[in-house]
Amino acid sequence: MRSFEGFVRRTLATGYVVVLLLSTPHGDAQSQNVAQHQPRNEQSVQGTGAARFAKEVEHEISTSVPAPEVRVVYLVPLDVKPRRNFRRSASEAIQSLQNWYGVQVSGKTFRLHTPIVETVRTTHTAKWYAENQSGEDRTLWFWNNATADGFEKTGGMFDDPRFVWVFYIDAEPGEDQRVGGGNGVALLPRQDILGILGLRSESVCRWVGGLGHELGHAFGLEHPADCENRKADPGSPECQSLMFLGYLNYCGTLLTPENKSQLDQSPFFSPQAVKAARRSCSP
Ligand SMILES: [Zn+2]
Repeated sequence: MRSFEGFVRRTLATGYVVVLLLSTPHGDAQSQNVAQHQPRNEQSVQGTGAARFAKEVEHEISTSVPAPEVRVVYLVPLDVKPRRNFRRSASEAIQSLQNWYGVQVSGKTFRLHTPIVETVRTTHTAKWYAENQSGEDRTLWFWNNATADGFEKTGGMFDDPRFVWVFYIDAEPGEDQRVGGGNGVALLPRQDILGILGLRSESVCRWVGGLGHELGHAFGLEHPADCENRKADPGSPECQSLMFLGYLNYCGTLLTPENKSQLDQSPFFSPQAVKAARRSCSP
């Protein structure tokens, strides 16, 4: 019988994140620099990245843009056709999350860029992202390649005080390659694009929830510690929160009190008009 841990690993917001749980967060990374820019590890030491993120943003924001935003970028590899309706679907997904986070964080939520979803053609084929050897740790090649391309095309960076970056890339990682969120970036591969378009067996809401989960990591949120170390019941509210298993039940999930207070302090969150909680995962 599969353990609870196994279940969590199999059901993370993007299927590929699953694998990253099996490796140590920083121990096998090639360099400190790479280690800092990994997607949030599901077994990682709690808090360090988030604390650094918040501090840097606080420091830099005072001299830069007063109203930081979330930017959603649709990265289309050289040999892939842009998918009809993806911009609209992704735009609806992020707006649903904007409202949902606002309801959760007492009227505060993130701002969105205009246009909400930007399409960017890249100069590499879809396969290149999984295969280009960007470092000794092959599990990070996809993450390294996709984020590097995304930043090159947009002028973004990790822990960017101006923007939290959401990159949807129409390419498939290798089975053991990592995607997810951390350090101000969420990276979502082809399966999430198909999911948002309603082209997978799961409901679209599950994929909106998956985006919300990785976006949470990009904002610096971690998995609830007691769920991570299996002290808490998987059915408990905290383990059914967005940052654990709750993304599967979006929008009928929640943020933990710890998540809410962390976001309340985030420079990316400000008071905005928020609609009452909805039952649909559409905006
Ligand atoms: Zn996660």
